[in-house]
Amino acid sequence: MTHTQNSDTGNREVKRSTRRRGIVRLGLGLVAAGGILAASLAPGVLAQTLLPQTSIVTTTTSTTGSSATAATTAQQMTLGTTETLTVAQTEGPYFKTNSPERTSLVDDTVQGTLLTITGQVLAADGTPVANALVDFWQANASGAYDNSGYNLRGHQYTDANGYYTLTTVVPGLYPGRTRHIHVKVQAPNAPTLTTQLYFPGEARNNTDGIFDPSLVLNVTDNGDGTQAATFNFVVQTA
Ligand code: FE
Repeated sequence: MTHTQNSDTGNREVKRSTRRRGIVRLGLGLVAAGGILAASLAPGVLAQTLLPQTSIVTTTTSTTGSSATAATTAQQMTLGTTETLTVAQTEGPYFKTNSPERTSLVDDTVQGTLLTITGQVLAADGTPVANALVDFWQANASGAYDNSGYNLRGHQYTDANGYYTLTTVVPGLYPGRTRHIHVKVQAPNAPTLTTQLYFPGEARNNTDGIFDPSLVLNVTDNGDGTQAATFNFVVQTA
């Protein structure tokens, strides 16, 4: 449960070079397809789960005339866009294989600020990746990893639209690192991406040797003592 300074950075990997290519815009048919996709998703998570790393245009249409204003969100996916692959980072010393399959890492023994992270796993062309493995592990609110068991460790598979949802707590700080969550993401029959997710506004983001701003969660304070965050992964699919 103890940590050596900069333990996660000890075997630092070379960051995958990123690339940004031109955007290929397809026709209205794909806009319609995006609308169909949007209609099939839970309305409460649409705006935040789809936005951060995808080239998706969100439009909101308000309908008045009733006692309540009905808002309809349409997603216009620009399929064919080449996305920047999510940056890879070091695994660190605390990964364990065979984590339990679960979407919530929180039980009666876990303390801390409740955090829900949602997002999609996408291919480089923007296509959602179904059945992708997403394996999280993190320190508890006190900054300690469970190396004897599987507390705050768990894997899951994305749904038919490439979505994952993780219920956890905000990880604590430990010496030498800024606040972070470890994750491995693997599309079916494809290479595994190992990386870390970070939190906005952390003082240590400025001094952590491997902090990468492209890996910062989009965090929202729910106003009830809990937080929600979004992050989309873009991974190799072959
Ligand atoms: Fe770590």
